[in-house]
Amino acid sequence: MATDPASVLELPKPRWVSDDVAMLYDMAARFLTEEIAPKYEEFEKAEIFDRASWRKAGENGLLCASMPEEYGGSGGTFAHESAIIEAISHVGVDGFGIALHNSIVAPYILHYGSEEQKKKWLPRMASGELIGAIAMTEPGAGSDLQGVKTRAERDGNHYRINGSKTFITNGQLANLIIVVTKTDPARGAKGTSLIVVETDEVTGFERGRNLDKIGLKSNDTSELFFNDVRVPTSNLLGHDEGQGFVQLMQQLPQERLQIGTTAIAMAERALALTIDYVKDRKAFGKAIIDFQNTQFTLAELKTETTVGRVFYNNCVERHINGGLDPVTASMAKYWLSDLQGKVVDQCLQLFGGYGYMNEYPIARMYRDARVQRIYGGTNEIMKLLIGRSL
Ligand SMILES: Cc1cc2nc3c(=O)[nH]c(=O)nc-3n(C[C@H](O)[C@H](O)[C@H](O)COP(=O)(O)OP(=O)(O)OC[C@H]3O[C@@H](n4cnc5c(N)ncnc54)[C@H](O)[C@@H]3O)c2cc1C
Repeated sequence: MATDPASVLELPKPRWVSDDVAMLYDMAARFLTEEIAPKYEEFEKAEIFDRASWRKAGENGLLCASMPEEYGGSGGTFAHESAIIEAISHVGVDGFGIALHNSIVAPYILHYGSEEQKKKWLPRMASGELIGAIAMTEPGAGSDLQGVKTRAERDGNHYRINGSKTFITNGQLANLIIVVTKTDPARGAKGTSLIVVETDEVTGFERGRNLDKIGLKSNDTSELFFNDVRVPTSNLLGHDEGQGFVQLMQQLPQERLQIGTTAIAMAERALALTIDYVKDRKAFGKAIIDFQNTQFTLAELKTETTVGRVFYNNCVERHINGGLDPVTASMAKYWLSDLQGKVVDQCLQLFGGYGYMNEYPIARMYRDARVQRIYGGTNEIMKLLIGRSL
């Protein structure tokens, strides 16, 4: 990863970046620069990507990199997913919803799906034919997921699903949605089940508005409505009903670490762009970098981003060796996304008025960064989880 923005930190290559991970990063960065970046403005304006880009990402090995080859994936690990997510943030096409598709949705199918389910869905996710989403949040249940009301009732060899979801990433494009439902509301968390809805094969499924967000404009985030949606009982993930909450808890460390991936990669890009800018921009007859305030600010941001990168690398190594506990993953999510917010904000300041102009990437980064402290469990919820472990 010689030319990527991470090189601004001048750290040695971490152990988890094997030769094939580094090659994947380069390949992904090239693909995103050549194929996606030229169309990105258009996607930001339309507030949605096109399906063709997903297909192309599939053809170029960017989808399901960590799924086994027998299911159409590339047989990698989270290290490979991290390389792709970092490339997305380093190139600056953060609205491309691949991270969720690859490292959140596909793993549920791999870990809890039957052989038949894996064969049916994963190869089509790897090609981009199926775009994945996970629908947990409801208008009345965000942080408190136990409050989910969406109901799945047995009806012979089908489930009938009724309920509504909101804030769902990839919500307009997704045609494979893992829906968090209650199969037995009386049992609370133990009555929660994950059921896959292939939207092209059902009636009663409706997409609501593509929500108007302050950032990540090109990522479609939507309301979803389920009105007597009938799916076969074989779409349940796991052998038995009632496993949903445990499954969610087991997958959260990777989901949270992945938010940390975007956070550290965006902080690196912000630093790299800002260092270039302040060397070039002049005021009072000298370059902005020659003011001590600029040097002190960037010295602090470089130090903190380096600390963040070393912690992130440690988390990835632990995760690929199977040892990332939920509390450390919560620390990574909360601390790295806070860091990202701070770095991007202070970098924007060094751009002066230009930093507030949308034509400068730092402006978009400022808007895109904000949600990182909210989704995937808010940073307050992360602190609650860390606090409980003390
Ligand atoms: C752009 C975007 C994309 C998203 N993508 C998805 C997706 O793909 N799938 C999905 O299911 N969801 C998604 N979400 C939803 C997201 O996960 C929730 O918004 C988040 O979990 C917070 O829930 P809430 O919005 O209901 O806030 P609330 O739970 O209402 O929280 C409001 C505030 O209260 C605080 N709070 C709540 N409980 C406590 C507590 N016990 N102690 C202290 N403070 C507390 C919160 O930290 C927050 O500051 C997305 C959201 C956004 C904005």
